[in-house]
Amino acid sequence: MKTKFLINPLLLLALLFISCSTDDDTPNNNNIDMNEIVIPSDQISSIDKQLLSQIKKAGILFDADEIWTGFNLTETPMYLVHKNKEGKVDRGIIINPQSAISNALEIDEENNNGLEVYRYDDEILRAFQLITSDTGNGLYDFNFKIDNQNYYLQIYSDDEVIAGEELAIYPGGFFDPDTITIGAIDFILHENFHTYQDSWNPKRTSIKNIEQHQKSSISKEILELRTLTHQIFKDFPNGAISRTVLEEKLKQYVAIRSKESELDSSIKYAYDLSETDEGSARYIERMAVRALFPKRSNESFIPGSVLDNDYGITNQEILTLVFDSVLLYEIGASVCLAISTIDREALDDINTDKTLFEVAKNLFNMSETELAQQLQNAKNSVDWNAIQTKVSVWQTLN
Ligand SMILES: [Zn+2]
Repeated sequence: MKTKFLINPLLLLALLFISCSTDDDTPNNNNIDMNEIVIPSDQISSIDKQLLSQIKKAGILFDADEIWTGFNLTETPMYLVHKNKEGKVDRGIIINPQSAISNALEIDEENNNGLEVYRYDDEILRAFQLITSDTGNGLYDFNFKIDNQNYYLQIYSDDEVIAGEELAIYPGGFFDPDTITIGAIDFILHENFHTYQDSWNPKRTSIKNIEQHQKSSISKEILELRTLTHQIFKDFPNGAISRTVLEEKLKQYVAIRSKESELDSSIKYAYDLSETDEGSARYIERMAVRALFPKRSNESFIPGSVLDNDYGITNQEILTLVFDSVLLYEIGASVCLAISTIDREALDDINTDKTLFEVAKNLFNMSETELAQQLQNAKNSVDWNAIQTKVSVWQTLN
C-alpha cells in the first residue's frame, strides 16, 4: 500500500497537529532567518551529512538482503528538504537524480557518503507548499515531480535527524508532538518500503481499494481475541525468543485469527492485507534501526500493552482506531519476524497476493483440534481474565 498514512494513524494525528501549528508559515512568508547559519549553496551541513550517513548505512544493510529480499534503498530517488528551528525550509538535497537538473550542485565525494547527492534549493518552497497543504501530511509525499521524474519527498529538521539514532519510546503511537520527535530515517525506511510494495502483485492494491475495513462493528469476542494476539507478541522481538517459541507464537496467532474469521465471516481480506503491508514496513524499519543504531538495538515492535492503558483508549473512536489500525503494524511486524525465522522463503509469498495470515497458516496446516489447542495455549500464556475484564470496560466507553 502506498498511502499518505504515516507509521501509524495516531502519529498522523500528531503530525497534523504539527502542521496546523505552522499554518501561518505559508510558503510565501517563508523568510530564511538570517540568524541561522546559512549554508553556502554548494555545501551541505553536518546534519545533512549525518542523515546521508544513516541512509547509506541502511542502504548497505538492505543490499545484503538479510532483512528483506529485494528492497533497495540506495538507488531510490529522494528529495529531502531541511526545515529550520523556525519551521521554515531553507535548503534541499537530491539523492539519485533521475535527470540532469539545472542548478543542482553535486556534493563531492568527501561529503556525499558514497551516495549520488546534489544540493538543490529551487523546489523547496513548492515542496513545502505541497506537504503543508490541506491534503499534505506535514512530513512526506510520494511522486514529487522534478523534471517530470518522481521523487520521494520528505521534510526533515536537525532534531529529527538526531532522533534517528536515539531510543524511541512512544507506546501505542500516542505522544505529545511537542516533546516526542520521530527520527527522519524511520519515515525514509518505512515509506520507501511502501513504494517498493507497489512492485508486488497489483491485485492486492485493487482489492484493498474496493474493500473497506470492518469498522465499529468489533464484537466483544473479537476485541478479546485481538487483545490476545497483541499480548502474545508483547515486547517482541526482545528477550530470548528461540525458534521454538516463535513457532508456538505463530501457531497461536493462526489459531486466534482463524477463530476471528469463524466468529465474523465479514472480516475482510483487506484487513489482512493492511496487516501485511503495514506489518512488513514496520518490520523492516524496526529491524534496520535496531541493527544500525546502538541506542536503538532493543527497540521493540510493541512498545507497551493495550491492557496497561498505554494506548490512550478513552472512547469508542480511539478504540476503533487502535484495533483497526495501530495494532496491525505491531502484530504484523511480529508475525513477519516469526515467519522470517521459521521459513525465510515463505515470506516471499507475500510479494504475490498472500497475506501474512495465509502464509503463516500454510506453514502449519493445522487440524481443527490443533487450532483449538493452540487457541487455548495462547489464552493460558497470558492473563486471559484481565483481557476479558478490560474489554468489558472498553465496551462501556462512549
Ligand atoms: Zn505505513
